Amino acid sequence: MVDANRHVVAIFGGASAGSTAAEILAARGIEVIVFEQNLRPYGKIEDGLPRWHRDQRRMEYKRIDGKLDRPGVHVVPRTRLGTDIQFDDVVRWGFSAVLLANGAWRDRPLDIPGAEAWVDRGLVYQNPFIYWFNHAQEAAYAGRRYTIPPGAICIGGGLASIDVVKVFQLELYGQALAARGIDVTMHDLEHAGIPATCLKHGITDPAALGVEDSWLVYRRRVEDMPVATAPPGASAEQLLKIEVVRKKLLAKAQERYLFRVRPLALPVALLTDDDHVVGVRFVETEMRDGKAVAREERPFELHSSLVVSSIGSLPEPLPGIVMKGTFYDYADWDTGAYAPVPGVFGVGNVVTGRGNIKASEHHAKDVAHWLTEHYLGVQATDVARSIEGLSKGSEARAEAAATQVADYVETRPLLAAAAADALLDRIRARQAEVGYHGYASWMATVTPPDAE
Ligand SMILES: Cc1cc2nc3c(=O)[nH]c(=O)nc-3n(C[C@H](O)[C@H](O)[C@H](O)COP(=O)(O)OP(=O)(O)OC[C@H]3O[C@@H](n4cnc5c(N)ncnc54)[C@H](O)[C@@H]3O)c2cc1C
Repeated sequence: MVDANRHVVAIFGGASAGSTAAEILAARGIEVIVFEQNLRPYGKIEDGLPRWHRDQRRMEYKRIDGKLDRPGVHVVPRTRLGTDIQFDDVVRWGFSAVLLANGAWRDRPLDIPGAEAWVDRGLVYQNPFIYWFNHAQEAAYAGRRYTIPPGAICIGGGLASIDVVKVFQLELYGQALAARGIDVTMHDLEHAGIPATCLKHGITDPAALGVEDSWLVYRRRVEDMPVATAPPGASAEQLLKIEVVRKKLLAKAQERYLFRVRPLALPVALLTDDDHVVGVRFVETEMRDGKAVAREERPFELHSSLVVSSIGSLPEPLPGIVMKGTFYDYADWDTGAYAPVPGVFGVGNVVTGRGNIKASEHHAKDVAHWLTEHYLGVQATDVARSIEGLSKGSEARAEAAATQVADYVETRPLLAAAAADALLDRIRARQAEVGYHGYASWMATVTPPDAE
């Protein structure tokens, strides 16, 4: 017990944004409590970044470990805001500030009447789908499993939707090759691409494998896909260039992974039999003043028993937290200050999740074209692949936000020693309850031996 008046800040979410904020606040002498809902605090890096980015994920894990395993930072795993701890209680307990760094884990609902009734009966959302892909090979994995059927359909358009359709293709071709007695790893297939891998094994035309390739369906044109983003205030010339880049990126990705793309198509109904999705009815669209407008007279259908919706991730609504649209009610998007309660701030994807215009302007600078190429696996073959820097933008924003929070906290009176100690006592009790006795030993216990 430290017998001194001091500041104590609570952070919910221990991944890229939460750990970055924790490090900065702790360096300013503030005591920091990091509540994390999961056993491990790696967030999107572990559960959203497909596991073929093996080296990058390991590197990011180490960086997060370094930020959390340090004096002044108290980690409380397996503790979910809204379930194990309520927001109103947290506010009442009297922390010097509260940071919401809980990311964007709610899939934007698919805008098809009645669609939700078909979730896990053929309709799957991107976040659980990638979670399955990243973890299903672990012996202890007990979650839902998915099998990729011929012609699987992904509805989307951004980077994450290309991840989804790549997963489809890697699974389908991996199985088709295995059926011919050719054993290739997912990593090899992703790294070299499907045609090159087939060629290496004497198959000059991958079509000979008889795979029914999967579909990526997007409501706008290929050149509108948000896989590369124009800088804020881009000139007409820059916008045209970006369109060319998008087309090239997608064409390269298709060349390597052989998925089919259906642009200018809007899903309007799920096709179902008694208890399962069997396809999607779409209508064609046309672009009018930058908007995709449905052409009701031009319907068409795609048939498959798996439809993954990958149309964006949003912050999860949590009891007691006021929403403004699909985001929390921020008074200021730059500081992430939460309007209803002073001293509460959003940091990271919880503020910058896609779909917000202002946020996406800031977002634009983060992922350079070369980084997108490396992310998608379509970089030149003589260049070493690296997605180092993917999180730089979000980290830079988390750093800026944490610095502002530290400045805010320092304008506030210190918590009396007894009040700060009482907060720490609560935290220690919760750590004991979940069996946490220190970062390194906890991580050693909860990391599956076969985790990638
Ligand atoms: C497809 C893809 C595209 C990307 N594009 C970009 C990009 O364009 N620009 C960029 O900067 N970065 C990008 N990234 C990189 C990076 O994933 C994110 O920027 C960054 O990881 C987000 O970090 P975060 O800490 O805000 O959120 P997360 O990594 O989601 O972390 C949130 C943490 O909070 C925890 N949590 C959630 N809810 C609760 C709760 N109720 N209580 C307690 N804990 C909770 C979660 O378990 C998680 O550990 C991309 C990643 C992917 C996979």
